[in-house]
Amino acid sequence: MKIAFNEFASMQRELKAEMQEAFTRVYESSWYIDGKEKERFEKAFARYCGTDYCVGVGNGLDAIRVILQAMEIGAGDEVIVPATTFIATALAVTYVGARPVFVEADPSTYTIDVRRIEERITERTKAVIAVHLYGQACDMDAIRQIADRHGLKVIEDAAQAHGCLYKGRKAGSLGDAAAFSFYPGKNLGALGDAGAVTTSDKALADKIRCISNYGSDKKYHHIYKGTNSRLDELQAAFLSVKLPHLNQWNAWRKDAAKRYLQGIRNERIVLPKVAAYCEPVWHIFAIRCKERDSLAAWLGDAGIETNIHYPIPMHLQKAYEDLHIPGGAYPIAEMIAQEELSLPMFYGLTEEEQTYIIERINGWKL
Ligand SMILES: *Cc1c(COP(=O)(O)O)cnc(C)c1O
Repeated sequence: MKIAFNEFASMQRELKAEMQEAFTRVYESSWYIDGKEKERFEKAFARYCGTDYCVGVGNGLDAIRVILQAMEIGAGDEVIVPATTFIATALAVTYVGARPVFVEADPSTYTIDVRRIEERITERTKAVIAVHLYGQACDMDAIRQIADRHGLKVIEDAAQAHGCLYKGRKAGSLGDAAAFSFYPGKNLGALGDAGAVTTSDKALADKIRCISNYGSDKKYHHIYKGTNSRLDELQAAFLSVKLPHLNQWNAWRKDAAKRYLQGIRNERIVLPKVAAYCEPVWHIFAIRCKERDSLAAWLGDAGIETNIHYPIPMHLQKAYEDLHIPGGAYPIAEMIAQEELSLPMFYGLTEEEQTYIIERINGWKL
């Protein structure tokens, strides 16, 4: 059997006609940037997340970047970022001229360890970016309490958490503003690059909209040194087709996660744990194993594709060598990087395929 890490076949088949219709509608409208499609998707996605506003942008990295810029975070400032994340979280901070200050991951949930945030706060700290990694929410009440004590903004990186719940509330509505990516492989994905910011702060939403459109509030009037990062009409139309299916796709992932959790029995493997406050959306099903590479090869030999999220923690990336953080500085993040393995997880993964994967894992010995 051959099982891909991720595939789109089921959604492609089911949505083909609607997607073609969306394409034709935009194509024939002759209006490709900043129009009705974007407005419609923004409204629907804000409603979905439980926020008052949504601003479509070009991608997830830009979503974080324009939030930081709108909060006037820049040179001389520091922003708390988890050491275990995709590099976009840290890069957005770098792009605005601020400094990412890494905080260790929690070894059981892999999200930022809230007990270790305060020790990294200085008088320069302006914000905390809470990354809902693998589709599991950070402990947002704890983060909010710390932020309030120190006068910090709370930004969610919800790029892996479309539909994820924290104490019954949706990711994207839990901080001052949230960044989403609609990169094709995310739980809600476009057919190219796309992203969005959600917030219930009107002034912030207006400013972000302005910054993402060349800092322009009126055509050819520029009040900020903005950027060009807009959700285009075609991607917005595709996303509007897909959004109504997101809950069903997430439910599929939840069932698949349950099967992995119940079926995998191998003492060398650590299964993911879900915090009581969270209903995750399983963007990634991350197991841990000290002999990760050998397990990955064993699965690969059986036609099962896996992935690693992520092989190098932020402080050890070459791009951040200028921060001069030595190996060993973040032992949990380093352990996750060495042991994490992501199993196939997507809408359309069948029970039969999962049984095959589970049996192969349970049959693995050193
Ligand atoms: C995908 C991702 C991003 C970046 O999104 P892009 O659309 O690729 O720019 C940011 N943060 C996290 C945690 C991600 O997984």
